[in-house]
Amino acid sequence: MKETLMNRLTWMEYQERVRDEQAPVFLPVGALEQHGPHLPLGTDAILSTAVAEGVAGATSGLVAPAMAYGYKSQPKCGGGQHSPGTTSLDAMTLAHTVRDTVREFARHGVKKLVIVNGHYENQWFLIEGINLAMRELGKTPLTIMRLEYWDFFTPPTLAKAFPDGFPGYALEHAAVLETSMMLHYHPELVRLDRIPNDPPADFQPYDIYPTRTEWVPPSGVLSSAKSATREKGTAMVNELTTLISAAVKKEF
Ligand code: ZN
Ligand code: MN
Repeated sequence: MKETLMNRLTWMEYQERVRDEQAPVFLPVGALEQHGPHLPLGTDAILSTAVAEGVAGATSGLVAPAMAYGYKSQPKCGGGQHSPGTTSLDAMTLAHTVRDTVREFARHGVKKLVIVNGHYENQWFLIEGINLAMRELGKTPLTIMRLEYWDFFTPPTLAKAFPDGFPGYALEHAAVLETSMMLHYHPELVRLDRIPNDPPADFQPYDIYPTRTEWVPPSGVLSSAKSATREKGTAMVNELTTLISAAVKKEF
């Protein structure tokens, strides 16, 4: 099987893959962020990397090392910045890091780049980084695809995973989706006995600064992860891998 991890290749092998074979390069992006008492701080980068590796395997692609730090955790979708370990970047730092990385990929002849986002708060700053890079590159043979992996879940999958109704991706932080996917990819990293059963967070339709940390459940989990299972995770991962691979093949 072909190597899928960029950082394990020599520069000559990399050159051959991206220039001669025009392999798509996947850049996973995550965050270092609290994920409740049961999931590790690196969950967002771990999941976006795992998804990227699955898709790269199906598309003869290469996965670049993940950007493991992300934009600041927001109370309503990541629990906020107050938990130890939630180690975040300013918006411009993230946007500029993306800009610089995209420019480097382009300089080395990458023509197909897929940015796989695994942290809700990153979205607009990834877009900004891509936009700055494309403006700087001008006319370029590089095409970039950007995605949030969770946008590929289909209604039937969500209906199966959430028989009582889907709370939405924002509240799904460290809950059923991420926990089930971690049970599929890295069961050894899930502290099953520590899954909290807090009721869903009850937020107001506005924000207050400084953050009202009391709005966030003490566990940092925004809706219950109790119904997470490895079987759900496997079904989700299979669906994501198939649909994202199809989208990559279609666009490139
Ligand atoms: Zn997460
Ligand atoms: Mn996150």
